[in-house]
Amino acid sequence: MKIVKATEDNIRISAGIIKKGGLVAFPTETVYGLGADALNPIAAASIFEAKKRPFFDPLIVHIADLSDVERVARNVASKGLKLMERFWPGPLTIVLEKLDIVPDIVTSGLATVAVRMPVHPAARGLIREAGTPIAAPSANRFGCLSPTTAEHVYNQLGDSVDMILDGGPCSIGIESTIVKIMNNRIYLLRPGGIAPEEIEDFTGEVLLAGYPKNKPEAPGQLPYHYSPEKQVILVDKISRIEDRCGYLFFREPGFSYP
Ligand code: AMP
Ligand code: MG
Repeated sequence: MKIVKATEDNIRISAGIIKKGGLVAFPTETVYGLGADALNPIAAASIFEAKKRPFFDPLIVHIADLSDVERVARNVASKGLKLMERFWPGPLTIVLEKLDIVPDIVTSGLATVAVRMPVHPAARGLIREAGTPIAAPSANRFGCLSPTTAEHVYNQLGDSVDMILDGGPCSIGIESTIVKIMNNRIYLLRPGGIAPEEIEDFTGEVLLAGYPKNKPEAPGQLPYHYSPEKQVILVDKISRIEDRCGYLFFREPGFSYP
């Protein structure tokens, strides 16, 4: 079993694995990430291999400190900087103009790189100790649900990961919000852990939807994504609660429930 507690010692060992081009799954406040050295193209390729992720789906690069942004991106708009200062560390990913040092495999050949600074101390400790930005998508098989515990990672990825750092269940449990700033406007590429309204309240401007291009660049636009293995049924009305089912209501159900 490769699940180890995210202690200082184990973070140091994991950082050594990252430096050597290995794969480490680690906790963040959003979901567990499958991390590799973001500046090492072969290491980044092994993320795609382990997840069975298609190469057209770019990775988010994780950093530990604001000064790390300059290691992967340039020409950060002042609006971008304000978002970083307000929402980092936290579940906000910002798409920026990439530096050549970031391998094309990480960004799927795009001229931009998605960057985030996580809150979780184990995540930031790992990045600092590794001394390199860490590319990390969610630590699940492509198209499946994102893991929010170390066991979820092991169940999905098993031995294709060199080490799994256990930092307990993720406090947020959904992906990061992704934004991109273009022509001084902020586009919401993917909703996530930070509500768009929170960004709008802070910036005083309405976020623009999606991306002004024909090609979809944000996730969740394929026929299957974030798919649970259990059956999901959409219903208009129900009259009672069955055993062994989970329910999500968007309004009061109109009857009493346990
Ligand atoms: P995740 O699967 O949570 O790691 O998020 C990765 C998602 O971030 C990808 O599916 C992309 O949609 C988005 N992303 C990453 N890099 C970029 C980029 N350079 N431009 C636009 N979106 C990006
Ligand atoms: Mg994912």
